[in-house]
This record gives sequence, C-alpha cells and structure tokens, in this order.
Amino acid sequence: MKVGNNITLEIEILEKMLSIYCGSVHATAVLCAGCQDLLVYSAGRLAKCPHHPKPACKNCPTHCFPPDKRQRIREVMRHAGPKMPFYHPLLTLRHYL
Ligand SMILES: [Zn+2]
Repeated sequence: MKVGNNITLEIEILEKMLSIYCGSVHATAVLCAGCQDLLVYSAGRLAKCPHHPKPACKNCPTHCFPPDKRQRIREVMRHAGPKMPFYHPLLTLRHYL
C-alpha cells in the first residue's frame, strides 16, 4: 500500500472546496490570502499526519487543527460540500465535520 495517495487526494479536494467557497463567499477569482493560508496549513498538517492509515480526525489522538482553523474548515465544507460534482471522495474529508 502506498502511503500518501490518500493525503494527496484529500489536499486536492480541499483545494477545490476552498476555491468554490472563496469564489462565492469572498468573491475572489483566486484564493484570497485567508483561504490560501488555510489550504497551506491544512496541507501541511495532512502531510505530517503520523498515523497510517489516517483515522477520522475526530477519532485521532493528534489534534492537529486548532479550533479556529477547524471552525473555518467546517464552514468551507458546509458551503462547498453540496456543490461538489463528485461527492463520494468527500467521505474521507467528512471526518472534519
Ligand atoms: Zn477566501
């Protein structure tokens, strides 16, 4: 089993969701600084997740997202989730909710 595939996919999904969210909520053509920051931060945390396979974050002993960032991710998910054209890969992300 290749470690990392899952994480790469999660980062890609997160990036798509952020651009949907940012485009409609922040009305920007590209990710605004705040959303960019959130993406970079999340990607960094995902890449550094010490658990393989990665458990659902709510069951994870490592709380790598501070509450303010988790709150923002949750908001992005809630907004962009239903707009995603492919929903099932989101199963891996729904553990942020
Ligand atoms: Zn934004």
